[in-house]
Amino acid sequence: MSKLVVISGPSGVGKGTVVKLLQEKYEEENKKLYLSVSCTTRSPREGEIDGVHYYFISEEEFKKRIDEDDFLEYNVYGTGKYYGTPKSTIIEYLNKGYDVILEIEVNGYKQIKEKAPECIGIFIAPPSIDDLYKRLIGRGTEDMEVIEKRIETAKGEMQEKDNYDYVIVNEDGKSPDTMEKIYNILNQ
Ligand code: 5GP
Repeated sequence: MSKLVVISGPSGVGKGTVVKLLQEKYEEENKKLYLSVSCTTRSPREGEIDGVHYYFISEEEFKKRIDEDDFLEYNVYGTGKYYGTPKSTIIEYLNKGYDVILEIEVNGYKQIKEKAPECIGIFIAPPSIDDLYKRLIGRGTEDMEVIEKRIETAKGEMQEKDNYDYVIVNEDGKSPDTMEKIYNILNQ
């Protein structure tokens, strides 16, 4: 049966890399996996493509879609930006037999877990907050103000990790191991 999987973890923890490896593994194993593409009102980072990484939409459009009940969940995150999971696509892929992954933050997970208790919640944690700080600076995609804000958010997010079905520490340079752990959870 198709599984709805929520993966959360602080910004910079390496969720993106792990999910990419998971997509490759599913492909190798000829299994069907769909990674949900969220809508957001934040600006694209360098290299991000509309419709691939996110649907980049205006706040006006986002609010219109909230009113139309288009989102399975949504939240305002970081510096006041909206992020939301489009509902109809998720249902479509689950019905087609795909495992569906949502890479969303902790408040979005709470909303989903309430609506769909059978979903599998996986929290990817850094070895420490200090380590996360270094990774965010190393990534170099945000300025210091945003990084400081994200670290503050990360501390709050770490306190929510016990609400998840699984907590996996993503050790430095060990994304393939983290991916394998998740693959085994989903295919046991
Ligand atoms: P970023 O701006 O770094 O791409 O994402 C910031 C945070 O928003 C990350 O924790 C990411 O997982 C989360 N996020 C991405 N899409 C969604 C969504 O549709 N809903 C919610 N609630 N969070 C999301």
